[in-house]
Formats: sequence, C-alpha cells, structure tokens
Amino acid sequence: MKILLLGAGGFIGSHLVEHLLERGEHEIVGVDITAEKLEGISGSAFTFHELDIHEVPDDLVRESDVVVDLIAYANPSIYVEAPLSVYQLNFEANMRIVHHCVNHGKRLIQYSTSEVYGKAGNNTALYREDESDLVMGPVSKQRWIYAAAKQLLERVIHAYSLQGDLEFTIIRPFNFIGPRIDYLVPAGTMGGPRVFAHFMSALLEGGPMHLVDGGHVHRTFLSIYDANEAFQTVLDRPEARNEIYNFGNPSNDTTIRELSTLMTDIYTRLAGDPPRSEVVEVSGETFYGAGYEDMDRVPPDISKLVALGWEPQHDLAKTLELTIGYYLEQAREAATSA
Ligand code: UDP
Repeated sequence: MKILLLGAGGFIGSHLVEHLLERGEHEIVGVDITAEKLEGISGSAFTFHELDIHEVPDDLVRESDVVVDLIAYANPSIYVEAPLSVYQLNFEANMRIVHHCVNHGKRLIQYSTSEVYGKAGNNTALYREDESDLVMGPVSKQRWIYAAAKQLLERVIHAYSLQGDLEFTIIRPFNFIGPRIDYLVPAGTMGGPRVFAHFMSALLEGGPMHLVDGGHVHRTFLSIYDANEAFQTVLDRPEARNEIYNFGNPSNDTTIRELSTLMTDIYTRLAGDPPRSEVVEVSGETFYGAGYEDMDRVPPDISKLVALGWEPQHDLAKTLELTIGYYLEQAREAATSA
C-alpha cells in the first residue's frame, strides 16, 4: 500500500515512519512543515514533502491507499494562548483532508485525542470509546477548544461514514511518551512543551521542576513503541474499519507528583549523580495563563483494542528510562561538540 502520513515530522509521525520502514511492507509518503525529527530516518520506500497542511495537493491523497492524519497543535499552552489557531488547524485545516478522502474514496486514519472525554474521568470509570460521555468545561475556559475541535472533527468523520462516503479509523492517544517527544526549553520556562520535557530540562540544568496545582492529577502514559504496534493493529485488521480506539496503558497511571519523583530517581541512576533540580508548586493560571483547566484523571479502557490482539509491553519505568536515556545522550553529545 501507499500510505500518506500527514505530520510525519512530528513525535508520533517520525516514530511511525521508522516503524513502518522497519516492517518494510508499505510505501510511505510523508508530509510536514519540518523534517528535523526525521534526521537519520530514511529508506527507499520513504519520500518526504516539506509542506504546510493547507498546501497538501489533492493528488497526494488521490495517489495513496490510506491517509494517516496527525497534524494538530497538541500542547495545552497553545490552547490557552491561541485558541482560534487551534480551531483553524485542528478542525478547519483537517476538514480539507477529510474532504479529499471523501472525494477520492480513501481510508482515513485520524489521530484525535484522549481529551475528547474531557472531564468525564473525574469519577473513577474507565473511558470507553463507544459509551463514555464527552464532558467539556465552560467556553470561558478556552483550553477546551482543543477537545471541542477534535470532538467535532470525529463527529463529522463519523457522519460521513454513516452516509457510506468515508472509511475511517479514529485513534485517541493517551499521553504517548518516548524519545523526541518535545524540544527541551530552558528549565523554569512556563507553558511550552509537555510535562516530560519540562521535568527533563529541570533535571539536566538543575532548575525548578514545576508542579502545576500540586501535581495531584493523574495521567496514564503509553510508550511510543506500544503506540506504533497499536497503529499496526488498526492498519492491518479489517475489524478496525469505521471504529474508534483508545491508545493508552491504564497500568501506567501516575500522578504528576509521582512522575517527578520517578523521573528524578531514574535520572540519578542513569546520570550517576542526583540532579540539582527542586520541586516548586505553581498554579495552573500562573503556568499556562487564564483560561486553563485540567482533568483529574484520563483513564483509558483498552479492551476494544486488546480484543484485536494488541497488548502494551512497556511499563512506565522502562518507558521513562528509555526516554530519559535518549535526552541524556543528546545532552552529552551537545556538550562534546560545544
Ligand atoms: N504539568 C506540570 N508541570 C509542568 C508541565 C505540566 O505539573 O512543567 C502538568 C499539567 O498541568 C498537567 C500534566 O502535567 O496536569 C500533564 O500536562 P501535559 O502538558 O504533559 O499534557 P496534558 O495531558 O495535560 O495534555
């Protein structure tokens, strides 16, 4: 098959390219505004186009068998700072791709988000793809525009499929983690990348590790390598047509405070020295700005995907060890070449 991978240069996309090239079964056409995370990843079955999503020509869709769409802003500080841009990219621009798929009869594998469940998990139930309610916060808390845009995109894709005009699979990622997850920002920066990158900067530089609102909220992290295998499962299995899947690992549930401790312990073991970083508590408003709200828990039920034969293999400690090891190596290389 020829797979068109939109967002091939991102964290998830670059790992998918690597995974698919290793499997060697398909031709991959990647599109992204940047190829930095694809450095060192190549193969005769891979071609890359440096393009903005608005510039993706209709022909690229027409010439492919499957379209995988990963393009989105997926970082809470952007939801708060630039909510309109989040809607424009995550809904409007992605709708162009949906329309191309409808027009050319192409299967669409759309990456959505665990955030579509919103605050549903503030009780203890696990999120189920086809049963759980999707619960958003008020409009005045603009962080929910991300979840709302993704939810509407899912609903439009589903509606096209009900009409018989589109074959789809929707993937809801739950906090994927692994090498290349984010660029590191100077320790102590507010907003910016996801929590792993902030804690990693604090460990490497000895700066503050910010615990937003005490770090009491829970997240469940999924190794990017387990996420690749989950993708392979929905790509291959005919039962995954016109279905929605949680990609997560409920066994990797942790509070953010526990994450800071676990990362510190692993870093100390790998680096050979304890870090000089210290935990500093900060409010969500100070860290992200007004309009931020958080989810207490994001607990996936994964039985639907497990029924197709997939099972996560990497626990949180192993996943963090691999990822922290990667960033430590990067830091060592940078120090040597400086
Ligand atoms: N967070 C934190 N310190 C940081 C960055 C984030 O305590 O330096 C918190 C954030 O408020 C949220 C959790 O960590 O509760 C996960 O945030 P992230 O941006 O990684 O992803 P989310 O799951 O919220 O999309």
